Amino acid sequence: MEKHSNDANVKELLDLLQVARLVVSTLNLDQVLEAILKSAMKLTKTSAGSIALYNKSRQELEMHAHRGFSKDFIGNTKWKVRQGGLTDMILKSDKPVVISDVAKKEFFTNPVAISEGIKSVICVPLVSKDEIIGILYVDDFTTRRFGKKDLELLSILSSFAAMSIDHARLHARTSKLAVTDGLTGLFNHRYMQQQLSREFCRAARYKETFSVMMIDIDNFKKINDTYGHTFGDRVLEKLAEILKSSIRASDTAARYGGEEFAIILPKVESAQALALANRIRKHIKDKSATLMKGKGNLTVSIGLANYPKDSQKKMELMKQADKALYEAKSRGKDQAVEYRELLEIA
Ligand code: GH3
Ligand code: MG
Ligand code: MG
Repeated sequence: MEKHSNDANVKELLDLLQVARLVVSTLNLDQVLEAILKSAMKLTKTSAGSIALYNKSRQELEMHAHRGFSKDFIGNTKWKVRQGGLTDMILKSDKPVVISDVAKKEFFTNPVAISEGIKSVICVPLVSKDEIIGILYVDDFTTRRFGKKDLELLSILSSFAAMSIDHARLHARTSKLAVTDGLTGLFNHRYMQQQLSREFCRAARYKETFSVMMIDIDNFKKINDTYGHTFGDRVLEKLAEILKSSIRASDTAARYGGEEFAIILPKVESAQALALANRIRKHIKDKSATLMKGKGNLTVSIGLANYPKDSQKKMELMKQADKALYEAKSRGKDQAVEYRELLEIA
């Protein structure tokens, strides 16, 4: 008898170890949560379950893993915390809730869960740095008694789940930082280069066009020299906001250098790109009073190049946009110039 129970313990430990390995080796959060849920159901011998992440500011839960439920039940992937309901109770008590027979609990009122036929459930909060970040639920369609051991095993698995969520969030934050310019929040030069390579591949493969735009602030040195570097920084921040609001979600705007910005415009022909460049240029000029806090005009010069019309090589295309920008400067600034115009002159 003892040998039998020892064997069972070893098997459970091996199961937990397998999940732990996945937690540290996989970055796909939902995949890890699914494995944790599968293991939780196996160890507690339950026939359904789910893991939901809790958004405190929105008072909302979002399902990230589920097993054993009907389509109707999993149709609602997000739900609000209902005052006096089961979830509300878990969030308030900060402790696991064990229900052997839902009919005996007045707070078990969720109509979707009742019509699904859930009769017993254990809910364990996922806690990170003293905050509840999610809930692990294991459910059964019959009334039943759960043992102390069920709770112990679920407590280990819920720690794994909380760790995975932390891990995934940290990774998302650091990945974002690695591609973001600290001052403006736009993408940085490195990301711009990567995106440009991706756009070249995409456009070549689908035989599509795209345009690139280089934007440089006019006389920025003078602005810095007159009003100070900190004032200059604020101007850069506000200008970046204008750029972000001027483009579509599929476009990429980046801070290319100090006071130079670049935009990639997928599927955009040169005529459309020129029109957008002039809209951006005029918009910045119109917003000068806000951008410069009433201290004069702010203008930009813009250079444009198009794939495949101007070039089919990555580095060459950016150089062409840069040459067009240089031409805009030498023509007196506050204007947008296409690379093609340079060839017409020559
Ligand atoms: P042009 O019209 O020909 O573009 O002249 P410009 O003065 O704008 O150009 P230039 O390249 O000579 O000077 C750019 C200035 O941008 C110089 C530098 O001090 C400033 N700059 C670069 N990065 C930053 C930054 O992060 N913050 C601030 N405040 N200034 C910066
Ligand atoms: Mg410059
Ligand atoms: Mg400049």
